[in-house]
Amino acid sequence: MSINVARSSMPSFEDYCDEIRPLWESRWLTNQGLKHQALEEALKSFLDAPYLTLFVNGHQALEGILRAMDLEGEVITTPFTYASTTHAITRIGLTPVFCDIRPDNLTLDPTLIESLITDKTCAILPVHVYGNLCDVEAISEIAGRYQLKVIYDAAHVFGVRKGGEGVASYGDASMLSFHATKVFHTIEGGAVIYHDPALADRLNAEKCFGLDDFEYTGGNSKMNEFQAAMGLCNLRIILDEIDKRATVAERYMQNLKGVEGLTCWAPEQDLTPNYAYFPVLFETERFGRSRDEVSDLLAQEDIYARKYFYPLTSAFPCYVGKIDPGHTPVAEKTAAEVLCLPMYADLDIYDVDRICDLIIHARRS
Ligand SMILES: *Cc1c(COP(=O)(O)O)cnc(C)c1O
Repeated sequence: MSINVARSSMPSFEDYCDEIRPLWESRWLTNQGLKHQALEEALKSFLDAPYLTLFVNGHQALEGILRAMDLEGEVITTPFTYASTTHAITRIGLTPVFCDIRPDNLTLDPTLIESLITDKTCAILPVHVYGNLCDVEAISEIAGRYQLKVIYDAAHVFGVRKGGEGVASYGDASMLSFHATKVFHTIEGGAVIYHDPALADRLNAEKCFGLDDFEYTGGNSKMNEFQAAMGLCNLRIILDEIDKRATVAERYMQNLKGVEGLTCWAPEQDLTPNYAYFPVLFETERFGRSRDEVSDLLAQEDIYARKYFYPLTSAFPCYVGKIDPGHTPVAEKTAAEVLCLPMYADLDIYDVDRICDLIIHARRS
């Protein structure tokens, strides 16, 4: 059987059936139904979120909050991310300004932000990539001095805690994704977490055609009841799922730690991680093989690791020649070296060992 980079968690079939059975009675299938209301409350509490609004997916949540803030001009962001982050900025008419990342945890380098601020800058949009936390204090300090909004792409940090607190509440707002391949999912889904209660009505208008008074040209990006029901079921198993991922991650670490030319990351000290991804960097010179060679070797064995995130979003054909890619040497090097190994709760330890053996034997000294 082939092994992919991710495999969706599923509740038991019976549990999901029990959760959706009332819908055959109520016939309330979407538009802020009972499951939707229950999931919003459950997530607020699980994530320590002051305010939370659900969306049909993470991308629409991100576009929704950027629109709701009435931003104009330039947004300082990372090119080392999924297409969604950069596309959300450009699709609503804002201009991304690409800032390099830190080599130690691959998030936005706060020491480089200030030199990119102009009189057009309106916001900073960093990504807690792979579940690694951005330097939220440094970013907040800069944003405060220049009166910029901070919106985190928190798609990778569901369930991550620091000092016992959820980490999806930093900045003015954070976007979460509940896509099927994420640690927690609602099949497709997403949310915005925010601090200003005035944004609630505006976000609801954004996802529901401008709601009742049509003050805004909102679109349609509501989460339906079947998605919310999947979320309620998955929330009941999330801690077990993260525990199983921890076992996989620890095995990878054990097997791969100290292999020359290969870099992998142990969770940061004061963080309760979610083990969303297992990224590895292959330094061609010292490992004796390029990332692409390793990826191909694994594929020959029906193991499909993924080059997340390659290419950088700033190098996408849709942006080349139109948007300044900036100067991001660390992001470029990382994108050339990174490979995300298969990581999901049900991944067999035997398969983890097999993947590691293949990698170790691929090394040429
Ligand atoms: C998954 C993801 C998104 C988009 O979320 P969807 O729910 O798939 O729309 C945005 N940013 C990052 C970093 C992601 O990984």
